[in-house]
Amino acid sequence: MDKKDILRITDRLATPKKVVVAVHYNPDGDAIGSALALALFLQAKGHKVSVLSPNELPYFLDWKPQIDKILVATQQLEQCKAEIDAADMIFCLDFNTFERVGILQEYFEQAKQLKILIDHHIDPSPYFDIVYSVTDKTSSTCELMYHFLAHLLNEKENITKEMAACLYVGIIIDTGSLSYSCNNQSTYDVLGELIHLGIDGGKIHQRIYDNFSESRIRLLGFCLAERLVTLPDFAASYIYLTKEDLAKFDYKQGDTEGIVNYGLSISGIRFTALFTERDNRIRASFRSKGDFDVNYFARQYFNGGGHKNASGGNSYASMNDTIRDFKALLQKHKTELTA
Ligand code: 5GP
Ligand code: MN
Repeated sequence: MDKKDILRITDRLATPKKVVVAVHYNPDGDAIGSALALALFLQAKGHKVSVLSPNELPYFLDWKPQIDKILVATQQLEQCKAEIDAADMIFCLDFNTFERVGILQEYFEQAKQLKILIDHHIDPSPYFDIVYSVTDKTSSTCELMYHFLAHLLNEKENITKEMAACLYVGIIIDTGSLSYSCNNQSTYDVLGELIHLGIDGGKIHQRIYDNFSESRIRLLGFCLAERLVTLPDFAASYIYLTKEDLAKFDYKQGDTEGIVNYGLSISGIRFTALFTERDNRIRASFRSKGDFDVNYFARQYFNGGGHKNASGGNSYASMNDTIRDFKALLQKHKTELTA
């Protein structure tokens, strides 16, 4: 993003506008945190803002300000379409292609309004008008949102404590509570600024991580006891969950968030997957340590993508066939996995 781009944005925002903020399918704390912080900022400047989510929001963020105002396309599609039609500009947060916005894909693709991308996933699609994409040495879209507001728009003094709390959530979620993707001074500089604004990091952490339903914690126990398979010959592991498993533990949106990481926390394991059965597909999440590139893996074999050490995708085969194919891929990549 250069000076011309910033001017294009500030010129537009000089008078009250209708702004749509889009987040990706299965929005996580980074998508929602950056969207709410931006919405709060723009509202305070007199703009009308609609945050649109393709599907339901995870309940562990229920406490966030204005989360109940987010429009959910699976429940309010007509309203979402109307907001897109009426918008003067569209911010796209925490995704790099409209393939990531579920049932809203065609409406966003057809929309003629100025589209601004703020994101940290590699290879953004070419159709965004203004792109603020940093993929290296940044933790999250929330970190970029802080820089966007504070430094690119030069609005540091208008970042409130409420907005800081939203941004903090994204950084914490996308770094696994500061355990990965955070070897950059910038991340800690931004965190320092957020703490300076008066947020209580410990309390926010508790609200996210000590706020699970009993059935979600029992689902985690079940995954570890019954559904975790280790494949030490490949330095790999996987967890699988069928629809019946999910029903048994009263599955709610967001309940499987974070479970994939447990497969990687075993000594000697460098690559792990979580396969979750959905209505017409198997959802796959991948995580790795070190050089094994799960963005490539998800793109190449699961029609997905993400980052080098965290990615996701889908399989349209049965659970059994998906696992069989996954094991064949481990064989194919054995040298890299065990190098
Ligand atoms: P998760 O496993 O938490 O759903 O996703 C991990 C990372 O991969 C996230 O950064 C997410 O944006 C990305 N990701 C997940 N699923 C997909 C997908 O289907 N396509 C693409 N391009 N990225 C994905
Ligand atoms: Mn993110």
